[in-house]
Amino acid sequence: MATKTGIDLKKTRNIGIAAHIDAGKTTLTERILFFTGRIHKTGEVHEGAATMDWMEQERERGITITSAVTQAFWKDTRINIIDTPGHVDFTMEVERSMRVLDAAVAVFDASQGVEPQSETVWRQADKYRVPRLAFANKMDKTGADFQLVLDSMQERLGANAVPVQWPMGQEDAFKGIIDLVEMRAYTYLDDLGQKIEESDIPAEYAELAEEKRNLMLEKLADISDDLAMLYLEGEEIPSELIHNAIREGTVGLKHFPVLCGSALKNKGVQRLLDAVTLYLPSPLDVPPIKGVIPGTEQEDSRPADEDAPTAALAFKIMTDPYVGRLTFIRVYSGVLESGSYVWNVSKGKKERVGRLLKMHANSREEVERIGAGDLGAVIGLKDTTTGDTLADPDHPIVLERMEFPEPVITVA
Ligand code: GDP
Repeated sequence: MATKTGIDLKKTRNIGIAAHIDAGKTTLTERILFFTGRIHKTGEVHEGAATMDWMEQERERGITITSAVTQAFWKDTRINIIDTPGHVDFTMEVERSMRVLDAAVAVFDASQGVEPQSETVWRQADKYRVPRLAFANKMDKTGADFQLVLDSMQERLGANAVPVQWPMGQEDAFKGIIDLVEMRAYTYLDDLGQKIEESDIPAEYAELAEEKRNLMLEKLADISDDLAMLYLEGEEIPSELIHNAIREGTVGLKHFPVLCGSALKNKGVQRLLDAVTLYLPSPLDVPPIKGVIPGTEQEDSRPADEDAPTAALAFKIMTDPYVGRLTFIRVYSGVLESGSYVWNVSKGKKERVGRLLKMHANSREEVERIGAGDLGAVIGLKDTTTGDTLADPDHPIVLERMEFPEPVITVA
C-alpha cells in the first residue's frame, strides 16, 4: 500500500504512559527507549546529517527536555510516545494529550495498587474512550502484590481487569513472568534483566498458571463466541484466537489487559512492548476525529487517510534555543508538507509550514512530510497556539472547540 509518506498505519501506535507520581513512569519510559534501540551509549547516529544529538544538548544545558512526542520502533512497529502529564488534574493539557493519543499504558505501583491520582487519570481516559493496558510495576518491591493491583482496578476503577500474565514470585523473589496466552515462562537469570530464559512453565507454577489461564479464558469467552465454544468443549484454543479476543475487548473498552514487571530491574518491559503492538489500536482502528465546520454548528469528521483533506491539531508549543519555536502536532488526515501553506482555522490565518521534525530519544530527524495518523513538530509557525487546528483552506474544520468565550472565526 503506497502512501505519500510511505508509512504503514497498521504498524503505528500512538500511546501515552499514564501514572500516579512515583509509580515509575519515568523509569519505564527510559527502559522503553532503551529497548527500542534509540538510546545508544556509542553515540552512533542513525538519521544522517540532519541529526542533532538531543541528549548531548540536554547534558550541555543541564536541563531536562522531554519531548511532547518521541518516536521509537519495536520490531516492525512505529510507536509514538506522547507525554501525558500525570500531576495535573483536569487541565486542558491532560485533556488535550488524551485527544492526540489512540491508546495508553497505565502504570501502577504493585505495592500500592490503584492510587487516588491514577484514579483521576483513569477517569479522564474513560471520558475520551482511550483503550488501555495496565502495567503492574515494582513487582520486586517489598509489599508488591499482583492480585492487589487486579482487585483495586476492579474495586476503585470498576475496570474489568484481565491478567494476561502472572508473576513468578513477587518482592525479593520476583524472578519471571508467565505468559498466559502462549503458556511460556520467561525467567530472568540476573538481577538486571539482561539475560532472559524462555521455557515451558516450571512444574511448581503449572497448577497456578492453569488456574489463571482459565480465569482469563472465561473473561475472553464474553468477547469471542469461537473461543467460548472451544473453551467449553475443552478443545485446544489457538493463541491467535486468544490474542484477537484480547485485542478486540481492549479496543472496544470491554476490558483492560494487565501485565507485570519491574521497570527498575528491566523486567517485563519487552513483553509490555509486545503487548502494545498486539493489543492496542492503530490509528486506523479508532473512530475518525470529529470537529465542526467553522462558523456553523455542523459536525464533520476526518479519516486517517493521507488522501483526505489535511487536518492537524497543535497540542504543545515548546521553545528550543537551537531552532526556536517548536509546534507539536498530530496530523489526523491528509499530509502536512514542509514549505507548504496551511490555514490556521482557529485563528483565521494562513501559516507557512517550515521544517518538519520527528523526535527520537536522542536525535531529531528532519522529514519532508508528516501524514495522517502520525505526529511530529513544525518549525516556523508564528501564530499557532495549542489547541489550534491547521487545515486545508478549501476544507476547513475546527478539531477542538475551546470552552473559552472566544469569537468563532469564519473563513471569508
Ligand atoms: P514517576 O514519578 O512515575 O516518573 O516515577 P520514577 O520513574 O521517577 O520512579 C519513582 C521511584 O521509584 C524512583 O526512585 C525509581 O527508582 C523507583 N522505581 C521505578 N520503577 C521501579 C521498580 O520497578 N521497582 C522498584 N523497586 N522501584 C522502582
